[in-house]
This record gives sequence, C-alpha cells and structure tokens, in this order.
Amino acid sequence: MMQQYHAAKVDHPNTLLFYRMGDFYELFYGDAEKAAQLLNITLTQRGQSAGQPIPMAGVPFHALENYLGRLLKLGESVAICEQVGEVGASKGPVERKVVRVVTPGTVTDSELMSDKAEAMLLVVHQAQRARCGLAWLSVTQGKIFLAECTHEELPAWIARIAPSEVAYSAGASQRFEQSLYQLRSSGVLTCPLALRPDWQFDEKLGERKLLEQLGAASLQAWNAQVLYAAHAAAGALLTYAEHTQGRNLPHVQTIHVVRDDALIDLPATTRRNLELVKTLRGEDGPTLFSLIDTCQTGMGSRLLKSWLLEPSRDRSDARARLGAIGVLRGDSDTLAAAPWQILRTELKGVSDVERITARIALRQVRPRELVALGLTLQKAQQLAGNAAAPAPLLGEIFETLQPPLDAMELLIRAIDPEPAALVRDGGVIANGFDSDLDELRAIQTNCDAFLLDLETREKARTGISNLRVQFNKVHGFYIEVTSSHKDKVPDDYRRRQTLKNAERFITPELKTFEDKALSAQERALQREKWLYEQVLDQLQPHVSALTRVGQAIASLDALCALAERSLTLNWCAPQFVPEPCIDIDAGRHPVVEARLAETSNASFIANNTRLSSLQRLQIITGPNMGGKSTYMRQVALIALLASMGSYVPATRCLLGPIDAIHTRIGAADDLANAQSTFMLEMTEAAQILHSATPYSLVLMDEIGRGTSTFDGLALASGIATHLHDKTKALALFATHYFELTELPAKAKHAINMHVAATEAGSDIVFLHELQPGPASRSYGVQVAKLAGMPAPVLSHARHALAALEARQQAGDSQVDLFAQPASAETPTPSAVEAQLRELQPDTLTPRDALDLLYSLKRLADKS
Ligand code: ATP
Repeated sequence: MMQQYHAAKVDHPNTLLFYRMGDFYELFYGDAEKAAQLLNITLTQRGQSAGQPIPMAGVPFHALENYLGRLLKLGESVAICEQVGEVGASKGPVERKVVRVVTPGTVTDSELMSDKAEAMLLVVHQAQRARCGLAWLSVTQGKIFLAECTHEELPAWIARIAPSEVAYSAGASQRFEQSLYQLRSSGVLTCPLALRPDWQFDEKLGERKLLEQLGAASLQAWNAQVLYAAHAAAGALLTYAEHTQGRNLPHVQTIHVVRDDALIDLPATTRRNLELVKTLRGEDGPTLFSLIDTCQTGMGSRLLKSWLLEPSRDRSDARARLGAIGVLRGDSDTLAAAPWQILRTELKGVSDVERITARIALRQVRPRELVALGLTLQKAQQLAGNAAAPAPLLGEIFETLQPPLDAMELLIRAIDPEPAALVRDGGVIANGFDSDLDELRAIQTNCDAFLLDLETREKARTGISNLRVQFNKVHGFYIEVTSSHKDKVPDDYRRRQTLKNAERFITPELKTFEDKALSAQERALQREKWLYEQVLDQLQPHVSALTRVGQAIASLDALCALAERSLTLNWCAPQFVPEPCIDIDAGRHPVVEARLAETSNASFIANNTRLSSLQRLQIITGPNMGGKSTYMRQVALIALLASMGSYVPATRCLLGPIDAIHTRIGAADDLANAQSTFMLEMTEAAQILHSATPYSLVLMDEIGRGTSTFDGLALASGIATHLHDKTKALALFATHYFELTELPAKAKHAINMHVAATEAGSDIVFLHELQPGPASRSYGVQVAKLAGMPAPVLSHARHALAALEARQQAGDSQVDLFAQPASAETPTPSAVEAQLRELQPDTLTPRDALDLLYSLKRLADKS
C-alpha cells in the first residue's frame, strides 16, 4: 500500500495528498504533520519506514468538503487519491488514482467557492525579449484571456486580474521569482504561487495547445497570432488546469486578447483609494461594489464586478447598458415587456448555470445541480417570452435566454426531482426514464409485498404467531423466531444467526428471493450510474448554448440591479461627450451618502464639478474634515460609474473620454518594500506624471506632506505646475499649502476652489460646500479641539499660530515656536484678573488706587 502511496505522491510533490482508505482520507509523512497543524487534527502513526514510525493524520470522507475549504483558504492545494479498482478484483491493495487536484485557482466545487468572485488562475511567463506573457482562466467561466506586458507593467496587470493563484516556470530567473515574491509582500499579489515544470512554457507547444483547444487552424480570428510569450503561458495554463481536473476542458472554447489600451486604466492604488471592492483597511465594509451589488444571483454579481473593475474606453457597451437600464426603469415611452421588479423576482433563486455547465463539461456535476439547472432553464424560457424589448441589449439578452430545448427536456425527464446527493447512492434517475431500470426497481418494490405474504404463510404453517421476516445489510433476509417458539421450527429452516432471545433462519424460498432482490438492487445502481453518464454525454453538445444562457441571466440580473439602484438612490443617466470634460451638477459620494443616511439625520451636501480642457486643474483648499477627499473621490466614482454604464449620483453628468483614473491619496509606510511614506508618495506621484494624458482624471490629496514644509511646498508646486502645463490631465489637487492658491493667477487653466466652513465661537461648522476661490484659513486648531486634544496643547498651538501669523505680516524671520503662551487658556479668570477686569482707572482717586494695589497684592499672595 505504501508503494502505491509513494507512486501517487511523486507526481504531486507540493500538494497535500489525501489518500482514500475505507471511510477516511489519510495523509502521511510531512503532509500529515502539515495537515495536523493547519487543520488541528490528530497526528498519529502507522507502520514503519526505515525503522521509524510513519506519521499519519486523517479526515472522514464525508467531511472532505469542509477540510478542503479550510485548506484552500490557507492557500494550500490538495490532490485527491480515490479507490478506482474493484475491491477484491486483484491481489494486493485496491487500485487507487489521483482523480483531481483542488487548487485555489482551479477549484470548481460550488461549496468551495465564493458566489460573488471568480477563482482565477493566472500563469505568467517571462520571455526572452523582456516581455511577460500572461494567460488566465476561470475554469468555471470557460474563457482564456491572453495579454503581454513589460516587466514594469506586471504589477498593474496582476492588480487588475486579481488572481486566486499564480503559476510560473520552475526555470524562471531568480530575479523574476524575487519580483513575484516582492509583489506578494507588498500586497499587490495576495494569492499563493505555484511552480510548474519549465518544459510546459514553450511558445510553439503553447500555440499548438491553444489551436487544439479551440479546434482552429490559426489564432488570427482572435487577433492572437503574434503573442508568442502569451502562447507559452497559455500552454502551461491549459496543462495545469487539465492536470487539476484530471481531464481536458471541453467547455473552454474561446480566447480573449486583452489590450491595455482598450480598458480604462485603474491602477491598484486607485482601486484601493476609491474603495471599489475593499475598504482601505482591506475589510469587507461598505464599498462602491457592495453598494451597487443588489444582484439576485452570484453570476450577476460576478459580472457586475467585472463591469466595475474593467470599464472600456470605448463607450459602446456603456451606452447599450444605459439604454437597457432606462427601459427597465420605465424611463422611455416604450415600456419594457416586464418591468425590473418582476424580472428580479423571477431571477431570485435561479441556479448558477455558468458553474453547473462547467461542471457538466468536466463531468463533476452532482444530481441536485442538474435538477436546479432544469428548473432554471424553464424559468429562462419563460423570461425569454419578454422578447419584444425596446433596447437592443435587452432584445439580445431575451433572445439568448431561450434555452436549448433538448437539454431542458432531457434534464426534466431524466433526473428525479428530489435525487440523492451522490450518484453512488442511487435514486437519481427519474422513474419512467428507462424501462430496464424501472423493472429492476419493481423487483425491489415488490419485495415488501412478497415478504408480507411470506410472513403470513409461514405464521400459518408453523403456528408461530410472532414470527417475523426481515432484512438487514449484513445478514440479508431472514425469518426471526423467539427462543420460546424454537421447538415449532420446521425442518426446512436453516439457522443463519443466534441471538440472545431469538434465532434467525433462512428457507430455500427466501434464499432464492434474496438472490434476485440483492442482484436487482446492485444492477439498478449500476444501471443508474451508466444512465447518468449517458445523460452527461447527451448534454455535452449543449455546453456552449447553456453557457450563453448563464451569461444572459447574469447580464439581465446586473442590469436589473443597476436599474433598482438608480431608482432607490435617485441617480441620473450620464451623457457622453467627445471632448475631455467632467461636468457634474449636484454630485454626491454614493457610499458616504448611504452611510450618512444610515447613521445620522445629516444629509449629504451635493456639489457641482466643472472640469474641461480649458479649466482642468482645481486647487482645492479648506479645513481638515471639510470634505475635500470626499469631493475628489466622488468625482472619480461618478466618472467610473458612468464609464461602466451605470446611472450616477448626480442630477446631471456630462463625461468626456477617459483613459485612466489616477489617485495619490494618503499614505501608509510600505516597510515590506523598504519604502518610507515620503518615498512611496513621490514614487506614486512620479508614475502618475509619467503616464497621465489629457484624457486622464488625476486626484492628488495633500502631496508633499511627508517632508519639511519648504521641500514639500516646493515639490507640490512643481507637481501642480507640471500637471497643468505638461500632462494637461483633468486634475483635482487638494492641499493645505496656501501658497499654492497663487498658482491660478499664473496658470490660466487652473482655478481655486475651497470647501466652506464657518466659525461659531471657538468651534467650527463644516458646510461641505465647494465654492470658488481659495479658503480664508485652515482651522486646524479647531479641528484638533473637535478631536479631543488636551486644552494646554490647544492653547500652546494658538499662541504659536498667532506668532507665526504675526511674523508673516511683519516679514520677521525669527519666531520662537516653543515660547510659553502669554496666558494659559483657562475658562475662569483668576481673582486678580477678575478684579483687574472690573477696574475703571479713570474713576479712581489716588487713595482708591493705593488701596487697590494692596488688595491685588494680597489676592496674588493668596493664589
Ligand atoms: P482632511 O484634510 O483631514 O483629509 P477632508 O477635507 O479631506 O479632510 P473628508 O475626509 O473628505 O475631509 O470629509 C470628512 C467627513 O465629512 C466625511 O467622513 C463625511 O462624513 C463628511 N462629509 C464630507 N463631505 C460631505 C458632504 N458633501 N456632505 C456631508 N458630509 C460630508
């Protein structure tokens, strides 16, 4: 047995091998030690190897999914080695084989996957020409993506793809490997890395594999013929994916070449800073995606996420989606055949057609998934009845929703509406589907009647009134007679088993029946397994049609969600214009607005935005907490929502072409990459200045704050000037350096804006309203007071501030920042002060003055 184990393990050196033994999956040696630690299961020993006990740990077979799920979350891969031979068919252990390998990037079991996210496997190949070839695939989606990039661009691609697993060649250079590990430590790459054999990364081999997969003679139709580095990656990708599934992937029938100039560039920093799918702290809190995702199905959510994270520069898709949303909302005169509310109710509870279809192609599908698919196809057929939709995109969707009828009928006819969980348990194929199976089942059903009849006859023949004819799995059929009636047992009874108070017998008649019944059961099960495979065979030709139905459901669901959001949150349809421009009336930050509505009575203050090539740089000043960051982010979010084809939180929005959204906001030390806050800030700013164009939207929040005032100010003014003169991007530049408000006087396309605030006593009231012109002052001390800063610190700061301001007015260069404040800020004046305040010198006689002097002296001595 251990020989067999080692033979399997050799092929899966970096994978935990689950070796099936009876009702358990066992792990041995290092695997056992690792699993014991990761899963908190008992580490035991079994047998010996080279005089040492063999470490062993195991999990019960019925709890496999649970343990797999936990290991995948920890980034581990698992090879599952099952018994495939017949028990007792040959000498030695039953034949076993690794039937599949479950890895984070290739998992297909619905229980192990998130409904709302794809499991994406990315293979990166470092080619000779300093180019990287990329190929990625979600096994359940069945589409291969190809791209090529430079080494420098790799982090941006990885951030965009957000893989669940990255594989690369064991022959890759050390530098390349190091750079991958560095991306992981810096948080750009958050998934496990897998090493694959070097020979699999071959350009020619890769091209051949792709052609075979697509059943094509050339890659020209996909415009992919010269992406040699990507071919090599794709070859390794397909080999790895097939290796994990233990078979080829017939449902992967298309490839898609992704060119970076086709999509709006959303660098990793932008995704993070705008909190698109994760909060800044990396948690699952409120994000733009969580706000817009009211989809009814996992397929819809996954599609919506890809619309959000991969918006096209070309706006035809966005236009089509906006048209469809308008119809679903009931905006246009021609009403949709069914309004969005009804469609959404219909979509509730439909099954994940996309994933089930992939599992049909991989022959891993479970009976209950097939039942769910059958029901969903019926629903899709009903929905397809809405065909006469006025928006072209909706029309297309309803047309595609028409399911392949053969497949639908087959599913409904073949599978029992309430099947067992697994085929091996039987009871999966519906009655009436196959006459042989029905006959075998009839024997089993007739069994009960026969046993009852036999029992009555035997009672009469023997005169034993409590005689019972029964069945159990171990002993088969028997007649049970209690010990008190032993003497009445006839001669033809053969003893099967003796119990404490009873004896069990068999008769020739019962034995004949038993043989027939047991073999019928066995044969029925075999027949069911065979029929199930036949059904899967017959479904194969429908795989692409079924995938399309899944995609149509996903699109409809995502569009209905956007329609619902636009109505519930009161959003408007954006309009696209050809020249660079972002023109927004009453724009709101959707996530902050939703949070305000939930947590307080305060309503969000809407603001306008006017950006165009003639007025392209806004220098934004105003107090801390005034709303600068919120305003800047809201502009970016509105531009992004419009670009994906969603309505936007505003009353009117005109949007010109956009090629990228860059953000430089806040900073956290990137110690893992040995970069200080300031270094990181400058690196990000430099990247933006290099890559932004007049069609980019750039947000810069408080640039230059990480160094001394003069350095920071000097750099900030340099960067703002460069953005204005050279980059010419549409830019929002928030700053606390008042000196920068002088820029618009010299730069004709720049304008000063400020967020308004007023003072009430020593407190500050934020108006969150954006107004033209520079802010009058910064209110930092008031905000610190709001934050609960101790009174002596505030008093010190006020003093220092007054001194600094006086110096500026007087042109004085020396100020003692650390001089003690003239008067400590105490709400109640001292007794001396109180008396002095009351005093009216002009009314005092010389005598009174003298008395007062002595009295003040006494008061001072007392205190
Ligand atoms: P700092 O300079 O300290 O970064 P800021 O000016 O960028 O501050 P924000 O972080 O944008 O300020 O806003 C602070 C808080 O004010 C937000 O969390 C939000 O609750 C509230 N706020 C901002 N803008 C608005 C608005 N337009 N309407 C209502 N509340 C708002």
